Amino acid sequence: MKYVDVHAHLNEEIFDKDRDEILKTCEEKGIFVINCSGDKKGNKKSLDLLKSSNVKICMGIYPTKTAEISDDEFFKEIDFIKKNIEKISGIGEVGLDFHWIKDKEKQERQIERFKEIIWLANKNKLPLNVHSRKAEKETIEILSKNAKVPVVMHCFGGSLNLASEGIKNGFHFSIPPIVIRSGSFKALVRKVPIQQLLSETDSPYLGPDRERNDPTNIPLVIKQIAETKKIDFDTVQKQIIKNAQKVFNI
Ligand SMILES: [Zn+2]
Repeated sequence: MKYVDVHAHLNEEIFDKDRDEILKTCEEKGIFVINCSGDKKGNKKSLDLLKSSNVKICMGIYPTKTAEISDDEFFKEIDFIKKNIEKISGIGEVGLDFHWIKDKEKQERQIERFKEIIWLANKNKLPLNVHSRKAEKETIEILSKNAKVPVVMHCFGGSLNLASEGIKNGFHFSIPPIVIRSGSFKALVRKVPIQQLLSETDSPYLGPDRERNDPTNIPLVIKQIAETKKIDFDTVQKQIIKNAQKVFNI
């Protein structure tokens, strides 16, 4: 393992045509992938990815879903995750999203269900792969009170003060290739100690350009972290692998 992508969505339809090719390239380049899904279809489909030796999976329920689905649908999906608990390396994508969900009542539902999901992660000693769009303060507060497992803040867009709260709590921050064209992500990279950084792609989103993103872009993230933190490439590369092995037990 030379590189790791701790948050990709290779289960998505956009990869149906060339998923195997991408995975083969990843294998050749030593890129290990942790796939995240967050709905019924995605969680089910992600099980197929386990046939690749360089892929592990997380399962979750997206915050935009937890805000909308019925109790019945929510607990059925939780049951599906429980049934597959031995096959997964983490819980995610989960969290809060107040960008797409503005209704107060729905936000409350998201919060309640997020707590329920954190409880599931605690019970099974699985790390959390967390989304926190426009709800960074609430997400960090809830995690710091409730999570007893490693936390990965994926694509964190909150203030540096909030990032400090997460750092104090020992959370990890995964950096996507968009860092190449984003000043605020560079500032986050400067702020977070190297022992708490991880690399991700959020494929097919958040690429270095506006094209479809995929895990083969991970070396670009390492290069940018090395440049921004003024640490040599090899040191960053090795430390991030070490961090990922610790968090996801891979
Ligand atoms: Zn994602």
